Amino acid sequence: TYVVTDNCIKCKFMDCVEVCPVDCFYEGENMLVIHPDECIDCGVCVPECPAEAIYPDTDPSATPAWLSLNHQYASAW
Ligand code: SF4
Repeated sequence: TYVVTDNCIKCKFMDCVEVCPVDCFYEGENMLVIHPDECIDCGVCVPECPAEAIYPDTDPSATPAWLSLNHQYASAW
């Protein structure tokens, strides 16, 4: 799965949401998140993010805490 991290906080761009083929972005408290069970790992959102906030879960920037927060906010819908 891909994970949204801190650079997304208070970012107003929605470019990632527009391109996601499975609509797995959700609104968290002050950022967008990706539902880890719905993301199909296509990676098309990464170059669209102007804040460079999206990382694959294999990247050190996508910490377990961020993965957990993405899951928590996305599941709240
Ligand atoms: Fe959506 Fe693909 Fe990004 Fe996953 S990697 S959130 S499926 S655009």
